[in-house]
Amino acid sequence: MNNNELETLIRHILTEQLGGTDTAAEPACGCTTCDGQPALFDEVDAAVTAAHAAFLRYQEAPLKTRSAIISAIRCELADTLVALSEAAADETGMGNKADKILKNKAALENTPGVEDLVTTALTGDEGMVLFEYSPYGVIGAVAPSTNPTETIINNCISMLAAGNTIYFSPHPGAKHISLKLVAQIEEIAFRTCGIHNLVVTVKEPSFEATQQMMAHPKIALLAITGGPGIVTMGLKSGKKVVGAGAGNPPCLVDETAEVVKAAQDIVSGAAFDYNLPCIAEKSVIVVDCVADQLIQQMREFGAYQITDPAQITQLRDTCIKKGAANKALVGKSPTLILEAAGLPCPAKPPKLIIVEVPADDALVMTEQLMPVLPIVRVDNFEQGLALSLKVEGGLHHTAIMHSQNVSRLNKAAHLMQTSIFVKNGPSYAGIGVGAEGFTTFTIATPTGEGTTSARTFGRLRRCVLTNGFSIR
Ligand code: NAD
Repeated sequence: MNNNELETLIRHILTEQLGGTDTAAEPACGCTTCDGQPALFDEVDAAVTAAHAAFLRYQEAPLKTRSAIISAIRCELADTLVALSEAAADETGMGNKADKILKNKAALENTPGVEDLVTTALTGDEGMVLFEYSPYGVIGAVAPSTNPTETIINNCISMLAAGNTIYFSPHPGAKHISLKLVAQIEEIAFRTCGIHNLVVTVKEPSFEATQQMMAHPKIALLAITGGPGIVTMGLKSGKKVVGAGAGNPPCLVDETAEVVKAAQDIVSGAAFDYNLPCIAEKSVIVVDCVADQLIQQMREFGAYQITDPAQITQLRDTCIKKGAANKALVGKSPTLILEAAGLPCPAKPPKLIIVEVPADDALVMTEQLMPVLPIVRVDNFEQGLALSLKVEGGLHHTAIMHSQNVSRLNKAAHLMQTSIFVKNGPSYAGIGVGAEGFTTFTIATPTGEGTTSARTFGRLRRCVLTNGFSIR
């Protein structure tokens, strides 16, 4: 029996166990609202109600059903990953296709499943206590425009593994690809377990729809991935929120760093998907005595330096409008940004634009999400660490450091208090790309869960048995 036949057999057996059907002919969710058109609804209320009806059935399903759904998602989406990534780049007009493929692949292959729900047991003379993660119910998940499909894939695997169903609020700017993906995942899940509407959304995502979802009584938990506005809105809802907000990751380089490797890592990390990832290096803070060498090496690795003060002003005024990133240039290529600023472009398209600026420059203090990397010189490590803390701004997001001095690395990691701290690597190592660790695209910053996975979306419960089950 080959793999495909085996998979079909497993799905058939699971479907039988759940009393559903393994054809997509009839909605089997038992709800009256999906009307035979699951996944995409006209109204928020109908979508949430259907996801809630689906949850009531899903919570009866065994863990192996959850695992089978996740395997099926991994298996079936793999074939469409390239098209999905290209469509996301085309629709949003942000980022680049090659890097989006890597991001989606990481989300699909490296997001942990049911195995992440680790059980803890305590035993003793008085008996046994189990701590286990059980589902919340319907999760209202908000996805950003910067990683639309990566977030949906990552959230689906984590949240379905934990036994929840999901209402997605996709970004209106990524509507078509998000709806297509939600419908595709819903269909895969249905074919695997016979339950419709494990994943739903509305046909017209809007700010109003997101507001309605946040206020809906059947939404048990909010998982919000986006900028400060939407995270704050969620925090005001009165519901429990896993809030994954904005960051401004500084990259600190001291005089003990392996400068060539640091330069290569910084260019790779800051240029990745045109700097759209919230974890990407947003500024470099470098100790003066290695600054020239670092900049020279960054140029070798494909960065284009602008040194003329008038041109730097032109670039700053183009990238930052009224104290915030110019939305029209978020996630655009270096060439397009140079053109928009009316600046000359080198013949070979650069990977990244770099500029040396003072510590309080708007390019340093603003989360730009563009391949424009400001560099600040400092006298020494202590000054660099103080500035890194200021630039990160207490957002508890991400920081990167290049150094061979272990006690300095420890000190910075300790004081930065970021959810992700990358030592001697590109920023994307922090989300398991080319490095150890699982992948997540929802890094819960203000609410403190950090790099989210299935267990983040499980309610931790205690189950006590008295007088027994200790065999020590
Ligand atoms: P955004 O805040 O504009 O949008 C995020 C989502 O919120 C979208 O679905 C949007 O439709 C919705 N939204 C925004 N304002 C709303 C409002 N007033 N009412 C209802 N819905 C609203 O963010 P974006 O530009 O798509 O993404 C970039 C931001 O997200 C950056 O700040 C980035 O750092 C952050 N981000 C954080 C993480 C993380 O894991 N911490 C991951 C990705 C992106």
